[in-house]
Amino acid sequence: MSYCVNCGVELDGDAVQCPLCQTPVINPVCPPDTEMTPNFPLERQEVEPVDRKELAMLLSAMALCASVCCGLLNLFLLWRGVPWSWFVMGACAMLWVWLVPPLVLRKVPSVVFLLLDLLAVGGLLVLISAATHGQSWLVGIALPVWAGFSLLLLIIWQTARKRSFLSRSLLVLSGIVLFLLWLEFVIDRFLGAYHPMWSLIAAAVGITMMLPLAVIRTRPNLRRQVRRRFHF
Ligand SMILES: [Zn+2]
Repeated sequence: MSYCVNCGVELDGDAVQCPLCQTPVINPVCPPDTEMTPNFPLERQEVEPVDRKELAMLLSAMALCASVCCGLLNLFLLWRGVPWSWFVMGACAMLWVWLVPPLVLRKVPSVVFLLLDLLAVGGLLVLISAATHGQSWLVGIALPVWAGFSLLLLIIWQTARKRSFLSRSLLVLSGIVLFLLWLEFVIDRFLGAYHPMWSLIAAAVGITMMLPLAVIRTRPNLRRQVRRRFHF
């Protein structure tokens, strides 16, 4: 057994140069065995591209199979009075919407997929509330939080993509601040009266973080310096 004199890596018996640092192997005691079949392929070969349609069919079949099996189990065998299979079916449908359309539809803009994903989450929430008779939390908390989050995400997605790193950070931070303010408002309204507390603290922290970014953004010289220092 030989080792590379330069980097110390262990060498195969047929190696004529180190695979790591390309140093030639010269070992008078044990010359390279050129007759031996090499351990690695000598020619590069292309990996076959994944067939997206096949993958989409497989994922659809898996989702359908899980849903049907759980539905039948729920109907005839396990906890027959409780609609537990609804959750599985809803989760399968949501995952299907998340995974399959992006595989099959290639020319659709990404924001459409995002919209579909968010609608799928909303659909799952409605399904869970229907299964648990939880209309009050659905209308009081789940849907307002979902709607606020979706709206902000869509706005940030559409506006932030072609901007600089600084503008994107500012947009994302302001989105988080607005969402937290909205979250506390919704929770407080659901539980009783609106007394803003923690969301204001979070908003203060967020705004403190945004201020330096906003200042840097308006000063081209400072912006260049920061960009050079942090490599963006
Ligand atoms: Zn080496």
